[in-house]
Amino acid sequence: MEVDKILFAPEEIRARVRELAAKINAHYVGLGADSVTVVGVLKGAVVFFADLVRELKLGVEFDFVKVSSYVGTESTREPKLTLDLSGSVTHKHVLIVEDILDTGHTLRFLSDNIKTREPLSVQTATLFDKPSRRENGFVADYVGFEIPDLFIVGYGLDCDGEYRQLPFVASLKTK
Ligand code: 5GP
Ligand code: MG
Repeated sequence: MEVDKILFAPEEIRARVRELAAKINAHYVGLGADSVTVVGVLKGAVVFFADLVRELKLGVEFDFVKVSSYVGTESTREPKLTLDLSGSVTHKHVLIVEDILDTGHTLRFLSDNIKTREPLSVQTATLFDKPSRRENGFVADYVGFEIPDLFIVGYGLDCDGEYRQLPFVASLKTK
């Protein structure tokens, strides 16, 4: 497969990440928080995570989780944690950072899971969102770009492990 069309250029992504960071900074200033644990969802969110945290104006702790794709039949829609947080988030503010929000099962599962650990707060940021694909009404607190139902790669997002390092986001030629 080949890259088809560049949908988001590096400068456009950079500008939007700055805007999201400004909203996130304002939110935590409003809470009077002096630090936040930013939880990146491996592997796709790594590039967005790295750019976003460098725009945050409060103390940041890094942590990461990995969530499996659906186990068994598609219809069970039951994500599982295959890598857990390395530290406790009890009494901490948590910001979950995801690459793309699709059906909503991954972020619903993760935020519910993290909320059981008595954090001070949990918010979610996703760079891309396909609202037409949602199966559970999940709404992220911060969304970079809403896109139609199409498969994208680059800026962390892969297709079978490829394309993650592209500095832009593109659709793929399917043949
Ligand atoms: P969901 O919201 O359906 O639980 O899952 C979101 C996950 O599906 C994302 O973290 C990502 O791994 C994958 N995904 C959904 N749409 C796309 C896409 O357009 N491109 C890529 N590369 N991954 C996607
Ligand atoms: Mg993902």
